[in-house]
Amino acid sequence: MTDDTTESGPTAPYLIEGARSSRAKCKTCRKPILKDTLRLGILVEGPFGTGYMWHHLPCAARNQFPKVEEAYAQEAWGDVASLPDELPSLEDLNHLREAAETKKKARKVLPYAEHDPSGRAKCKHSGEPIPKGSLRVALGQEVEFGGQTRVSPFLVLPSQVGEALQVPGIVPGREVDPLDLMEHLRTNSPDLDENDWTVLEAEIGSME
Ligand SMILES: [Zn+2]
Repeated sequence: MTDDTTESGPTAPYLIEGARSSRAKCKTCRKPILKDTLRLGILVEGPFGTGYMWHHLPCAARNQFPKVEEAYAQEAWGDVASLPDELPSLEDLNHLREAAETKKKARKVLPYAEHDPSGRAKCKHSGEPIPKGSLRVALGQEVEFGGQTRVSPFLVLPSQVGEALQVPGIVPGREVDPLDLMEHLRTNSPDLDENDWTVLEAEIGSME
């Protein structure tokens, strides 16, 4: 093993190491990568030569897992002594990716339920404020746009779901049968726990 390579620039496509300083920013989340935290460098050819674009290792796993996989396959940890701790296993990193993907999908697909993050939203059906931390449900509102019908989120208090769905143009989601509402809510809201579902089922009631 030769440590004293004195080449003009890096040539390995990937490098996993503990950050040598806190100066570089993660190209995924744009936050600084603190000294000694694990980072993945992806070699990029730019106008001024080749260099590494750095990512927190977990950020890279969430957003470009195939590259992390390749880096692991190549054992891209040049200087093992610069690793701050034991490396997470590829399997653990894959779990991060799966969780991130589930979350992304769940956010996009209507209908879903969630805890209100801010306390600033109002129920679009009743106009009542939605208390911070309480459960709210995103149904769909059909909107005509350029000759097409789009479905945009329509936030309501759980107790208002039944009434809101009586209003023309308010739907559970794109091509979702109101009778299947709870089933879709569960699929699209994996972060909620059983207590939340007990509350939701009681407040939404039976959809008949
Ligand atoms: Zn990051």
